[in-house]
Amino acid sequence: MIILSVNAGSSSLKFTGFEMPSEDVLISGVFERIGIDNSFYTIKVNGEKIKKEVELPNHKVAFEILIKELMDNKIVESLDEIKGVGHRIVQGGAYFDKTVIADEDAVSKIDELASLAPLHNHAAIVGINAAKEVMPNAVQTVVFDTAFHQTMAPCEYMYAVPYAWYKEYGIRKYGAHGTSHKYVSQRMNEILGRNDTKLITCHIGNGASISAVKDGKCVATSMGLTPNAGLIMGSRCGDMDATVGMTPKEMDIVLNKQSGLLGISGVSSDSRDIEEGIKNGNERCILAQEMYVKRIVEYIAKYYVLLGGCDAIVFTAGVGENSISTRKEILNKLAVLGIKVDEEANNVRGEERKITTDDSAVPAYIIPTNEELMIAKDTYSL
Ligand code: AMP
Repeated sequence: MIILSVNAGSSSLKFTGFEMPSEDVLISGVFERIGIDNSFYTIKVNGEKIKKEVELPNHKVAFEILIKELMDNKIVESLDEIKGVGHRIVQGGAYFDKTVIADEDAVSKIDELASLAPLHNHAAIVGINAAKEVMPNAVQTVVFDTAFHQTMAPCEYMYAVPYAWYKEYGIRKYGAHGTSHKYVSQRMNEILGRNDTKLITCHIGNGASISAVKDGKCVATSMGLTPNAGLIMGSRCGDMDATVGMTPKEMDIVLNKQSGLLGISGVSSDSRDIEEGIKNGNERCILAQEMYVKRIVEYIAKYYVLLGGCDAIVFTAGVGENSISTRKEILNKLAVLGIKVDEEANNVRGEERKITTDDSAVPAYIIPTNEELMIAKDTYSL
């Protein structure tokens, strides 16, 4: 059975086609500049990478081209072989604690929640409608970045602001990256061979968040109402004093796009450039990395206490999977918990493995995330 996992942005459409339940990737790619000039798409299929410039007036045309490519590349003979399409949705609010069928009720709730994620939720609805038009017989599902965090208790998700804000406007923590935290925590439990675990999962990419996961359920996460909470990120500030004097518009720009590693270093939001700067003795890169690592360590320590211990720490996403030095600095700062990094094992990028010594009090693992597969698995089970 073929399942498509799709992520629609306002001018883009990313997709991966899986054979399920074997989880083999049949095709993947992205349509870019939809509805703008110079649009194009890139596809990886049958071991080849194809790039084509083509007019993409809307998402429907992108899906039609995707179907044509699936047929031309002999992945499907007929449209009906695609049994399910899973759509990634950024904000599911308090309505959704799991993946559901994208029926009228679900879509209207996603629309209603757009005030919490205006760009993302509206783009996703455009994607759902286009996919339904092009593939009317496939089961369409909606997979929420926030759903995994819905198991948090009120004392974890409430803000200490007037209670009426919560009642009237839904102001609370919803978290993000839930599909990734769910995927790596499930995988970690498979490796440990049990589900009654206490895990700290660190999704550290350009956007970054940490979750505390007990018995497979999220009990705390570092992102908040929006993705700009918790950790220091590529260009987002994460936790900070909310009374810094700026207008909401200035805050949106400065705190989301000009802060984080970029804001402190003045060099880049990309941790590879920060590492390069550190090698060259750039003091602001050194400071940025110190603050970045410190914040991650603080969250791991906080969640260690919250969980009452920890069975494993998981590193995932761009930095978590690839930055040898960042992982090492984090784990070294956790030595007080009896954590011991295995330098040789840690000297790797993007590979699933344990990176602590056998006598480390808590093991740490790299588990490459796979949100697309998680979306396909949820869709397949529905
Ligand atoms: P993501 O948002 O998960 O795609 O992560 C993207 C980020 O991962 C980039 O901006 C880099 O900061 C980081 N990254 C990717 N490759 C490496 C690497 N080899 N070493 C350090 N950081 C990396």
